Amino acid sequence: VRASEASGAGRRSHFVQVRGAREHNLKNVDLDIPRDALVVFSGVSGSGKSSLAFGTLYAEAQRRYFQSVAPYARRLIDQVGVPDVDSIEGLPPAVALHQQRGTPSTRSSVGSLTTLSSFVRMLYSRAGSYPPRQPMLYAEDFSPNTPQGACPHCHGLGHVFEVTEKLMVPDDTLSIRERAVAAWPPAWHGQNLRDILVTLGHDVDRPWRDLPKKDRDWILFTDEQPTVPVYAGFTPAETRTALRRKTEPSYQGTFTGARKYVLHTFASTQSALMKKRVARFMAGSVCPVCDGRRLKREALSVTFAGVDIGTLSQMPLDRMADLLAPVARGELGPTPNGVTLSLKKAGADKARRVAAGGAAHDAAPDVRRTPNLSEEKRIAAQRIAQDLLARIATLQDLGLGYLALERSTPTLSSGELQRLRLATQIRSNLFGVVYVMDEPSAGLHPADNEALLLALDQLRESGNTIFVVEHDLDMMRRADWLVDVGPDAGERGGHVLYSGPPAGLEAVTASRTAPYLFGSHSPLPRRSRKPKGWLELQGIQRNNLHGVDARFPLGVLTAVTGVSGSGKSSLVSQALVELVGEHLGHEATASEEAEVDGEPRVAAQTGGRLADGLQGLKRLVRVDQKPIGRTPRSNLATYTGLFDTVRKLFAATRAAKAKRYDAGRFSFNVAKGRCETCEGEGFVSVELLFMPSVYAPCPACHGARYNEATLKITWRDKTIAEVLGMTVEEACDFFAAEPAVFNPLALLRDIGLGYLRLGQPATELSGGEAQRIKLATELQRPQRGDTLYVLDEPTTGLHPADVDKLMAQLQGLVDAGNTVIVVEHELRVVSASDWVIDVGPGPGEQGGRIVATGTPAEVCASRDSRTGPYLRQHLP
Ligand code: ADP
Ligand code: ADP
Ligand code: ZN
Ligand code: ZN
Repeated sequence: VRASEASGAGRRSHFVQVRGAREHNLKNVDLDIPRDALVVFSGVSGSGKSSLAFGTLYAEAQRRYFQSVAPYARRLIDQVGVPDVDSIEGLPPAVALHQQRGTPSTRSSVGSLTTLSSFVRMLYSRAGSYPPRQPMLYAEDFSPNTPQGACPHCHGLGHVFEVTEKLMVPDDTLSIRERAVAAWPPAWHGQNLRDILVTLGHDVDRPWRDLPKKDRDWILFTDEQPTVPVYAGFTPAETRTALRRKTEPSYQGTFTGARKYVLHTFASTQSALMKKRVARFMAGSVCPVCDGRRLKREALSVTFAGVDIGTLSQMPLDRMADLLAPVARGELGPTPNGVTLSLKKAGADKARRVAAGGAAHDAAPDVRRTPNLSEEKRIAAQRIAQDLLARIATLQDLGLGYLALERSTPTLSSGELQRLRLATQIRSNLFGVVYVMDEPSAGLHPADNEALLLALDQLRESGNTIFVVEHDLDMMRRADWLVDVGPDAGERGGHVLYSGPPAGLEAVTASRTAPYLFGSHSPLPRRSRKPKGWLELQGIQRNNLHGVDARFPLGVLTAVTGVSGSGKSSLVSQALVELVGEHLGHEATASEEAEVDGEPRVAAQTGGRLADGLQGLKRLVRVDQKPIGRTPRSNLATYTGLFDTVRKLFAATRAAKAKRYDAGRFSFNVAKGRCETCEGEGFVSVELLFMPSVYAPCPACHGARYNEATLKITWRDKTIAEVLGMTVEEACDFFAAEPAVFNPLALLRDIGLGYLRLGQPATELSGGEAQRIKLATELQRPQRGDTLYVLDEPTTGLHPADVDKLMAQLQGLVDAGNTVIVVEHELRVVSASDWVIDVGPGPGEQGGRIVATGTPAEVCASRDSRTGPYLRQHLP
């Protein structure tokens, strides 16, 4: 195929040639990487892998693409997104399969993302079995997201929201004055509503439950909005007198019933917080009209293989494939002698209807029955089913067969989402493209990893190039080419230490990756602690867990393992966290900030109860990889609280006192001292057509965030802006004599975050960095030894060397008497845990049980555990 393969020029043309790359921390690097190969970028967190793979190679491909399609975009791109690199040659067009950091829309689902839904709709439209006299429907009639298709009662949501007395008045022993109606707005608006009720003659001082039902119903559910005189600050008796005497009121107030307030606010508020607040008073229940299937009646009356499209969309892909397989083989429909074949899995009644899908002679004939239509239908069904099966097979290969089409994307983990995108790409038949990926192994059990590697092989064999930023050692071993970046993070990284076939890395002594890849690194130490007690959960019902009992040891480090989709997160991050959180009367902390999604709860959450072990637990903390803030306004210094102390130091200087500047003056969130143009952000946001808006440095303060007067004040010759510009490591030296600042900084440095700048916006931090900052903030608290820490796949995004640091932190928390539970695939972590709970054995409905539990050695010995054989290789 390639005539010039042998010649030097030809060889080089099969390489992407990067010259002088300087994006972020990259040290003017030159690099040649092969095309049509699987290339892995390795290195510790913060070393510059992403800056090279995404920030330079992908960004440049993207820029060229935009230039070719839209000349006017050039100006915008020059402003914001040109990678700092001298030249790149031989770069094919690129597609990024990024791990999603934001939240995709709730209306996007597995079916829409993979485009499987459109095939399924076509199948029902063209080849479905219609009831008598019902005309054929278009494909859009089968989509709950179109007005034509949606169930008119629930508008295609599948559930309806109710606002009940129980939800709005959680404590009926309270009076209205004591805020019995919790759903009402807080503060002034709430008092206003109470004063209106006083004018209307209601008793606001009696316990809610003693009020007449008629009054309670009116207050909560009325749609009437009477406007009446309000006497603010008057007692009920004074109000009655004032009304009688027709005294001039404070103002005229309009009443709103609690339900009306909740529904109106939910539908119209711009504030995510308000939305979240009122969502608490709404309960979702399955729509009685469509029974949760989201479609109008006509669409649901059409069946294929015996089931309607709503039911099909709720099945795991594995089941759907079983249903389609005979159709794809052309086995369904009338046989030559008129006998219908039946489906193994369907009952007799279903089988009859299944056959009707292609049978013109059935009792429920198709209205457009013509002698050869059924044959046409059969062929259409076969073709579409074959196509669907091939697509589903790719998803099954990637270990995603337990997902249903209808599953909404926000409920998927980022690893699942990325593999879905990957599967969709494999089916797209593109070639000559570079795929740039971000840790595709995230969330994958070693048993699933093989399938991922095969999928990547497949992409490469169809003529594509694959660049992955990856920490998984198996993936590195299997790569055609390895680019090791480092040696360390931030300023101490940014060099390409090695670029070549994996085996060659062994000789590179500076590499932090080599010791792990070539086995010269010793395993993590294990403490073998004994549990202080047990936290017992009984009868857990959640997703694929059907009445599971589980015991978690207290005072030790526990790893929960199992293949992807087996139910680990359902057990730990959902059931355990909810039940314990409910018991302690607080939501899990540390992850709250990012969870203002404002979706009301749908149906009952976790079933089951906490049986024992709560005596010793006072706090529950989830440490996840969600960002520590969503705007450049939050950063390392503000999140950890150390900036408060720094600001006090500045306010205490003689120059600041002379000007009467207080600590607030040195906050970029307060008007006094900050730059007016960017309001202290240091950045202004630039809106781009067709692209998410981006941040550019502020033209007035050039990123300093403060006004000139504030920047005149210095502490030990540095301005507050210069302090924010320091790395943690520099700040450790600078503040060495100030323990209140130094101690938290030293902790950050010791866990490997010394390269981060104090003012580095939260938006620039990776998930792994955010997680370690949260942990460091936790470690800084006075330890009482009664906290339960829950972490879901904490090693995502972490190099083995970073994993060691994380483990030291977690072990420290346990040594202080706390309990740590991690959901984890990384076997080095599992083998260093005190206790293992293996969930499975398979994904989805083939899982959801506790297969093995015990010390790592005991779990290895279990015959049923799929984790055991892999774990064995990591035990001494
Ligand atoms: P890796 O992918 O190896 O974890 P990155 O390429 O993300 O590392 O980061 C390399 C360095 O560049 C780090 O010091 C990081 O803090 C810094 N960095 C990353 N993103 C940005 C950004 N948008 N602006 C400025 N610095 C950044
Ligand atoms: P793991 O954490 O082991 O990968 P999960 O607990 O996420 O597994 O999933 C277990 C099963 O529950 C899977 O079949 C999955 O599709 C299903 N599931 C998980 N979360 C949800 C959800 N929010 N909605 C519906 N099904 C879910
Ligand atoms: Zn409905
Ligand atoms: Zn500014």
